[in-house]
Amino acid sequence: MRNLFLSALLAAILPIPASAESLLCENGLAEVTAPSAALARETCAMTDDSLARFEACKLGTWEFVRIDVIDQLEKGCVGLYHCGEHRIELLSPAGLDRAKDDLRTFRNVPSDRLFSSVLHHELAHALYETRPCPYENCLATSEYFAYSQQIAALDPRDRATITARMDFSKPAQRDSINAMILFMAPDAFIATVWVHFTQRPEPCQYWRGILDGRILFDRFHP
Ligand SMILES: [Zn+2]
Repeated sequence: MRNLFLSALLAAILPIPASAESLLCENGLAEVTAPSAALARETCAMTDDSLARFEACKLGTWEFVRIDVIDQLEKGCVGLYHCGEHRIELLSPAGLDRAKDDLRTFRNVPSDRLFSSVLHHELAHALYETRPCPYENCLATSEYFAYSQQIAALDPRDRATITARMDFSKPAQRDSINAMILFMAPDAFIATVWVHFTQRPEPCQYWRGILDGRILFDRFHP
C-alpha cells in the first residue's frame, strides 16, 4: 500500500519517466530530456540548426530553455512553449505517429521531420518571448512569427504538400491574422500567415521587424 502511495506521489511530482535521458546541449542554450539518449542528442543537434537559421537572418537568439521530449501530450497538441518558464514540451516522433489524425495542416509531413519543425516553431516562440509586447498579449504576432519560421524551415517537399491548397493568387487579408481566427480556425490562420509572409519582399527584414516590435498583428482591446 505504501509503495503504491509512493509511486502515485512520484508520478504526480515527476512529469518525466524515470528512464528519461537528460543532456545539456553544447551550444549552452538548451537542456534536453528525452525518452532515449539518442533522441536527446538528435534534439540538441536540431537546436543548432534552429540557431543557425536565426543567425542567418540576424534575429538574435532565445534565452536558455529546457526541452522535455515526451511520448504523450494533451490531445491535439504537438508542442507547447511555457512562456515565463523557459520550458518547451514536445511530442516525440513516436508520439507524433500516434497523433497523425490531429495534425491537420502538417499531417503529411513524416514524423521525424515534423518533430524538428515543431521544435523550431517552439524555439521561435522562445525567441519572440524575449521581445516586448505593448498589449496584454501578442498571441497573433507570436504565432505569425512561429508558423512563418516553421514553414520556411520545412524541407521543400514537405512545404509543397502543405501549401498545395493555399490560395496565392490574391493579397492575403491582414485583418484575418488575429487571435480569434487562430483559435476558431487554426488551419485558415496558418494558411493566411504563410500566403501573407510569402508576399513580403524581404523575409529576414520582415522577421526582424516583428522582433523589433515594429510589426504587430495584435491590437489594443479596450
Ligand atoms: Zn505556436
